[in-house]
Amino acid sequence: MSIKTDDSIEAYKDLICPVENPFPVVMQSAYDCFLIDLDERKYLDFGAGLAVNLLGYSNDEIKQAVKNAADTLIHCGTEHINLPNIELARYLKTFSDFDCFFFSNSGSEANEAAIKLARKYHSVIGNKKKRLVSFSGSFHGRSILNISIAGNPKHCDGFEPLVANITHAEFNNPESLLESIGEDVCAVIVETIQCRGGLREISKDFVTLINQLRKKYKFLTIVDEVQTGTYRVGSLFSHPEYALDVDIVTLGKGIGGGFPIGVTATTKKIGQHLSLGSHGNTFGGGPLVSSVALTVLKIISSSEFSEKVEESKEYMKANLVAFETAYKDDIANIVSCGMLFGFCLIGCSAGRAAELEKIAFKNGLIIRTSGDNAIRLTPPLCITRSHIDSAFTILYSSMKELISIYSV
Ligand code: PLP
Repeated sequence: MSIKTDDSIEAYKDLICPVENPFPVVMQSAYDCFLIDLDERKYLDFGAGLAVNLLGYSNDEIKQAVKNAADTLIHCGTEHINLPNIELARYLKTFSDFDCFFFSNSGSEANEAAIKLARKYHSVIGNKKKRLVSFSGSFHGRSILNISIAGNPKHCDGFEPLVANITHAEFNNPESLLESIGEDVCAVIVETIQCRGGLREISKDFVTLINQLRKKYKFLTIVDEVQTGTYRVGSLFSHPEYALDVDIVTLGKGIGGGFPIGVTATTKKIGQHLSLGSHGNTFGGGPLVSSVALTVLKIISSSEFSEKVEESKEYMKANLVAFETAYKDDIANIVSCGMLFGFCLIGCSAGRAAELEKIAFKNGLIIRTSGDNAIRLTPPLCITRSHIDSAFTILYSSMKELISIYSV
């Protein structure tokens, strides 16, 4: 390892709050779907920079959009209208019945805006609904509100007092949801696939129950699509695939093409209640990120691109099934939802997701864990057969390495 790498790692440890435990390398550049570290080692990125880089790295059209914004207008503040933002909102409107958008800088902020809007909406229409219902195993971001909603002790410890008036029901458990719902509930916030703590898909029965209760109790359903949205699962949104009736949807991550973004999408009927001065920010929907987001959306929603993604999905799925068969004593419960993939570790590999992640990284492949026992693959949507072949070659050898350490 070079002195520069060692120095940078030391400086990182010295200067940066230790909220992450990064791999001991320093990234310096990237191309296609590969990251390159300071020592010129390359890593095939099947995590896509925390599920962000939908078009891989160094996409020419994204670069052009950045350059155009740099040549015209990077930032003007949210008190001024900018053209790319209007174009982006117009384009987003073509995907669904949502016709009212709030732009921010992260998934957490998009959720924060969604929750504030739900409370405000009910307060303006004159009822007393204030309570939120969320689910065990969920993840919605790191603000005090979002950790309070998810209720994961790992993320909440030491940050108390948390936001009050939140009930945590058990995900996919109808009885638990029925016990939690009442006339005072203003919103239910849910994910179609929980990506942290194991990859858990919402069940059909649970969707039906949420839809029924929404009608009966008139709460708003908020779907957090920060990870599942933007063509990761389904198209712009994943909830139509699950027939989940929704009022507010949040997006983030990939839609910004590597620039920070949050989108809270709803209808005018609801969104109008986020009224003048009631909410806001400095950067949301700025010209640069809006231009890039529009570029990303136009590419990934084109039929030509979708056809390629469809092929990659099928090829990924076939490889995953073969991988599970080859390692049937160590792998189970493969997940293949759109371009979101995963598997659980069993047998002597159970609970060793972080170790497999480490071994794969050493071998040149970036994968992510989902809890202690599951691996999550969120590759760029633009991956090809050749990327998939390389990824599985590394996965096979990494799995073999893991098993050789722990089999008795
Ligand atoms: N919601 C979900 C489902 C997420 O996966 C994440 C981030 O991983 C967030 C919200 C928070 O997004 P951000 O980190 O951009 O604030």
